[in-house]
Amino acid sequence: MDLLSIVVPCFNEEESVEIFFKEIQKVLADQNYEIIYINDGSSDNTLKKIKKLANENSNIKYISFSRNFGKESAIYAGLKNASGDLVCLIDVDLQHPPSLIPEMIETVYNEDYDVVAARRVSRKGEPKIKSFFSHLFYKVFNRITNMDLAEGATDYRVMRKPVVDAILKMPEYNRFSKGLFHWVGFNTKWIPYENIERVAGETTWSFWGLVQYSIEGIVAFTTIPLSISTFIGTIISIIAFIYMIFIVIRYLIYSDPVQGYPTIMCVILFLGGIQLLSIGVLGKYLEKTYVETKNRPIFIVKESNIDDI
Ligand code: UDP
Ligand code: MG
Repeated sequence: MDLLSIVVPCFNEEESVEIFFKEIQKVLADQNYEIIYINDGSSDNTLKKIKKLANENSNIKYISFSRNFGKESAIYAGLKNASGDLVCLIDVDLQHPPSLIPEMIETVYNEDYDVVAARRVSRKGEPKIKSFFSHLFYKVFNRITNMDLAEGATDYRVMRKPVVDAILKMPEYNRFSKGLFHWVGFNTKWIPYENIERVAGETTWSFWGLVQYSIEGIVAFTTIPLSISTFIGTIISIIAFIYMIFIVIRYLIYSDPVQGYPTIMCVILFLGGIQLLSIGVLGKYLEKTYVETKNRPIFIVKESNIDDI
């Protein structure tokens, strides 16, 4: 029987770690699987709980980071150390119902898919404003990157080994997993599921955090914003040129070159604003390039029960 590796990022999830394992045991009773818990620098007893489980069950592995590196880094570490023919990526808080795993595995084999991923179809229990901005993000992202990320797409998925290998071939520091998963291609089937509340603990995502994350995603997958300033600059130059000719002609006819202070202020502020905005956009890309060229590790392991990590 093929081995299934289950990769589970955990950040301050002391209450969920065990509940999650019980649930997996129930769902995958007769399967050949391993669980890889990644402790992403939790400040609570998450690591202790994981180690206890690992001591009692030989199919539990763990990787503990030296600090919090973020879920994207945890995913990378997990995928890198997964040895299964199939790899499942899932949240520990049970918001990704483990009961879907058998169906996902079956679909991979029976319908010959490389990836089977879960897509949230309802946003129940989520603030309206969050849903609105999320919707807006997918619209904008897909428009300017020419990709078609499915709305409600989650990280929750079962992948065949070649897909995992393809993702690992992208060792970039700025990791926008949703985009990376889509970018590698392969045929993917989406399984719909209803949104559910966390079993315990709290989400670490703030609204501002999500906004930042969206910007990271856009910067990582398109350079269009860089061209936008060139475009606006060209348009404004053309308008300015026409206006200049207009003023000269008017002076020649009416001898009245004085146009007043407000117009000049408006133009100066408008152009100043656009220039600063453009420099900001440029700066964002420069920042990403700078961070990327430093070539720092995506994560640092403090301890683990995997030998050749
Ligand atoms: N997580 C992580 N590192 C982080 C933040 C989150 O490994 O810095 C894990 C977390 O433990 C959980 C998953 O990523 O298993 C999803 O996080 P969360 O539930 O906070 O996000 P949400 O479900 O609200 O999108
Ligand atoms: Mg969650």
